[in-house]
This record gives sequence, structure tokens and C-alpha cells, in this order.
Amino acid sequence: MKKQLLGATITLIVAGLCTTAWAGADDTAAWSYSAPNGPQNWGELKSEYSLCSSGKTQSPIDIRDAIKTDIEPLNVAYQPSKATVSNNGHTIQVTPVDAGGITLDSGRYSFVQMHFHTPSEEMIQGRTFPLDAHLVHRNAAGELAVVALLFEEGAHNPVLEPILAAMPKHTGGIAHLDRVNVAQLLPASLNTYFYMGSLTTPPCTEGVRWNVLTTPVQLSRAQLEAFQALYPMNARPVQPLNGRSVHVGG
Ligand SMILES: [Zn+2]
Repeated sequence: MKKQLLGATITLIVAGLCTTAWAGADDTAAWSYSAPNGPQNWGELKSEYSLCSSGKTQSPIDIRDAIKTDIEPLNVAYQPSKATVSNNGHTIQVTPVDAGGITLDSGRYSFVQMHFHTPSEEMIQGRTFPLDAHLVHRNAAGELAVVALLFEEGAHNPVLEPILAAMPKHTGGIAHLDRVNVAQLLPASLNTYFYMGSLTTPPCTEGVRWNVLTTPVQLSRAQLEAFQALYPMNARPVQPLNGRSVHVGG
């Protein structure tokens, strides 16, 4: 037991050192949310990031004039799981061990990680929310589907609290949670806006199925400030639609 604990401590320290080295001044490709390596320049930082500037189906978007269709409410089959909460230098990420997933028309996707942006990256009719969570899913073919959950300021959110309490303050830090049940974070209505987009961080990979829940959930001002104390602004600006349509169910 003692040996294991020692091993874990050493791993944590090494991870911290590597991250510090990675963020060194000689790494000009380190992307960020402010100039000179901010969103306007991501596409030029590295050839692998070129889609960030040349892509035609990028995310996030301002959701307007969604077309009403018969999309079913999101079909979720999440289960409680152990998880890590890590500070990766761009956001706080929750990575479960085995937390179930979702089923879309295109098939089943496993839940792989969740992270946060402030303010929300998605806009709805021009409105920004103070926080969003992106629940990233992957199918057997490696294709991605993201569920976006919007937060508005209001009541204390007891489901979010253990995650916020575990957030490592420094880049490279990792904490462990015995039980995360992402299903409890979701609103009562699982109606979604659906559109095809991309990762909102480099390399801005396209072909991502976006499912933005139409109903926000709440968090308290204190909870929002706890996240913003670590990341005051980590949202990519909205991207051009370029003729894409957004569908909405319900
Ligand atoms: Zn995201």
C-alpha cells in the first residue's frame, strides 16, 4: 500500500514537471485563449492545426433559426464511475473509467471525458451563458459526438460541487473521485439542437456531432467564481455557419 502511494506521488510530480517544461518559452506552438497564440492564430501555430483557420464546419456556433424536426430527446445511458479530475492547462477535465454513453441515430458512443468553458462557447440566439460543460463521446470507429450542457447563474449545484472541490489548482495536477454520475448533471428535458461541427480546441478536427441541450441547468455565483479563479476565460469565439443547418427536436 505504502509503495503504491509513493508511486502515485512520484507520477504526479513527474507529470507536473513535464507540463512545466512543455509550457516553456521555446514552445511557440502552445495554444492559448489570448494573443499571440489565441484563437485567431491557432491555424498558423502548427501545420496540424490548420483546420482551425481553413475549416468550413467549425465550432462553436451561435444557434439561430434552428429547424424543427423529429429528433428524439437525447438517449443517454450513463452510469456512475470513478473518475480523475485534471487541470490540463486549458480547462478542468473529468475523465471517468467506465461511465456508459449515448445513442444517436448514427449509433452508440461511449462517454470519454467532460470539461468546462467560461463563458459558454455555444451561443443561443446571440445569448452567451456563464459556463458550459462539453461531454465528449467516441464510437467504435473513433468518431466524436459532444453533448453541450449550458449553465446559468442561480441555485447551488450539488452534483457539480464534488468536481469543483477536487479541481487541481496547477497545470498537470490530477485528483481522484470515487463516484461521478454525469446523468445527475443533466436537465429534466433532454431536447437538443443538433449540428455538424468540430473540436473547439486545436487541432479543430471536423466531423463532430454536436448535441446542445436546449435547457440550461444552474450553478451558484460562488461555484462559477471557483472555476473562473482557475480559468477566467477559455472559450473560442463563435465560427461562421457556412450554410450548415441546425436542427432541434421537441
Ligand atoms: Zn469543449
